Amino acid sequence: MVSLYKIRKYGDPILRKKCNIVKNIGIEEEKILKRMSETMYASQAIGLAAPQVGIDKQLIVVDVDEGLLKLINPLILLKEGEGVLEEGCLSVPGITVKVKRAKNIVVEGWNEEGKRVKVEAKGLFARAIQHEIDHLQGILIIDYANS
Ligand code: ZN
Repeated sequence: MVSLYKIRKYGDPILRKKCNIVKNIGIEEEKILKRMSETMYASQAIGLAAPQVGIDKQLIVVDVDEGLLKLINPLILLKEGEGVLEEGCLSVPGITVKVKRAKNIVVEGWNEEGKRVKVEAKGLFARAIQHEIDHLQGILIIDYANS
């Protein structure tokens, strides 16, 4: 069991940063992604982005009971449909916000072995990925309030 990260909360400037693209995927990224996954499971969350644990790199983990997805430099290639759902966030505790997002997406990125991966996601899986990619751009659920 790896030690868990501390979750950064709203007000921490790293949550508003645009995260750096990972140029060389190595053992460090593999370790971070593993520790992020453990932290996500321990927090009973369905996703986590690196800035939420104080790391300004483009790394996300998602698990909505469809298996663990670890993605480096994720990029959404295709968005389809639209849906609104109430979302929460570990970094913004105590609030939920209705967020409009694409229903289905195709996302591309790299895995920790440095291989290119393309994922088709629907429903909650697609939503969680979009939420985590928002974090990499410094976007939080509160930015969707009143919109
Ligand atoms: Zn979040």
